[in-house]
Amino acid sequence: MLLLDQWKKVLNRIENEVTAVIFDLWINTLTPIQYANDELILLAPSVVAKNQVNQPGIFEKVTKCVREEFTPYTFVRVTEKVEYEENVRKQEAELEKIMKESPSYKPKFNPKYTFDNFVVGKSNQVVCAAMQSVAERPSEKFNPLFIYGGVGLGKTHLLHAVGNFLTKTRPDLNVLYVTCDKFTNDFVNSIRNSKSNANADFREKYRTVDVLMIDDIQFISNRMGTQEEFFHTFNDLYQNNKQIIIASDRPPKEISTLEERLRSRFSSGLIQDIQEPDYETKVAIIRKKCSQEGYLVDDDVIDFIAQKTSTNVREMEGILSKVVFYSSLIGKSHASMDDAREALKDYGETERTNLDAEKIMNTVCDFFKVSKEELIGKKKNKEIVEPRQLCIYLINDMLSIPLTAIGELFGGRDHTTIMHARDKISNQVKINPHVRTLVNDIKSQLLKY
Ligand code: ADP
Ligand code: MG
Repeated sequence: MLLLDQWKKVLNRIENEVTAVIFDLWINTLTPIQYANDELILLAPSVVAKNQVNQPGIFEKVTKCVREEFTPYTFVRVTEKVEYEENVRKQEAELEKIMKESPSYKPKFNPKYTFDNFVVGKSNQVVCAAMQSVAERPSEKFNPLFIYGGVGLGKTHLLHAVGNFLTKTRPDLNVLYVTCDKFTNDFVNSIRNSKSNANADFREKYRTVDVLMIDDIQFISNRMGTQEEFFHTFNDLYQNNKQIIIASDRPPKEISTLEERLRSRFSSGLIQDIQEPDYETKVAIIRKKCSQEGYLVDDDVIDFIAQKTSTNVREMEGILSKVVFYSSLIGKSHASMDDAREALKDYGETERTNLDAEKIMNTVCDFFKVSKEELIGKKKNKEIVEPRQLCIYLINDMLSIPLTAIGELFGGRDHTTIMHARDKISNQVKINPHVRTLVNDIKSQLLKY
C-alpha cells in the first residue's frame, strides 16, 4: 500500500480521537514523508504546527492510531522542513566521516544509481540493454563497451548501476569504477612517488580487476605517458578476458587527444550512443524522481517542468527540487502550478529559444572589440584567434549544431579545426580560472537577452 493511502486511514482514525479544530488546523496538515525501520516521519508545515502535534495529549493519540494502521512498534516522529533537512545533512556528514575514517566502509557505488531507478525510453533503451547484458554476463558480450552522449543523460548513472548490480550478484568479482582524471592522477602519482614499488601498486590496482569502468574518457591527455599506460592496461585486461566499459561525452573519433591505437581498440567492441530523452521519457523521469524522494507534486507541474527544461536530466532534477523546496518554504506539502511558476519565474524562457549562432558571434565580437569579418576570417594573431576559438567553443556548448555546420559558419573551416578549437578552450576552462571566468561572463551576457 502506498504510504499516503495508509496515512489516510490513520487520519480517519485520528479524526474520531481529537476535536475538529485540532484535526483541521494541525493534524490534517501533516505529510508522511518516510516510513523505514519502524519509524514514520511526518512533516509539519511549520514549527508551530510541529509543536502543536508534539503536545502530550495529541501526540499519544496520533501514535496510537499510527500503530493501529502500521505496526504496534511504529515510532512516530514529527518534524518540519528546516529541521528535517538539517537532520539529513547531519546524517550525510556523519556517513561521510565514517567513510573517511574507515575506507573499507565506503560503498563503491552510489546506491541511488541502479537499473531500477533508471527510466528507460526510446532515447536510451539500447544503451541500457547493452549495459544490463554486460552486467549480467561480464566479458561475454560486448567488450569493450563504449557509451557516449551529452551531459546529464545518465552515463555515470548507468556505470554505477552496473557496479551495484555486480556487487550484489557477483561479489567474487573485483569491479573498479574510476573517472579518467582519477586514472591519470593515480598514474602520475605512481611515477612521481619515490617509493620503489609505487608503480607496481598502480599496476596491481588496475590490472587485477575483473571489470574496469572508466568515466569521462574525453579528458584523456598525454600527461607523462598516461595513454601509453592506459593502452597497456587495456591490452592486459582485454587479453585476460576482463570486461572494460568506457563512457564519454562524444564518440571516439571526436576525441581529438585520443591516440589512434586506442581509438581502434575502442572500435573493436560495441560503441553505443545515448540520446536526449523525448517528452514522455522526461515526464517518466520526473515522476520516478518524485516517488523516490517522496515529493508531492501536481501532475500539471510535472508537465510544466518537462516542457520548460532542456533535455539535461540533471538540470531537470535541479528544477524539480527547486519547485518542491519553494512550496515547502511557504508551508505547503504539495507543490502546485502556482508554486512552480513562482519558483521558476527567473528561469529564462528565452535562453534556449532565442539563442542562435549569430547572437553568440555578435556578443563575442562586442566583448573583444573585433569585427565579424575578423572573427570568421583567416587572421592568426592572438587577438583574433582567442575570440574565434572561444566563440566556437560557446556555439558548440550552448547550441546543438554539428561540428561541420560550425565550420561552415566560420568561413568553411574543416570540422577537425573546429574540434581542435573547442577542445582547447574546454581544456582551459578546466584548468585556467581566467578563461573560466571569461566564458561565464559571456554566457551570462548571452542568457540575459
Ligand atoms: P552523465 O554522466 O551522462 O552526465 P548522470 O549519469 O550524472 O549523467 O545523470 C545526471 C542525473 O540524471 C543523475 O542524477 C541521474 O540519476 C539522472 N538521470 C539521467 N538519466 C536518467 C534516467 N533515464 N532515469 C532516471 N534518472 C536519470
Ligand atoms: Mg557523468
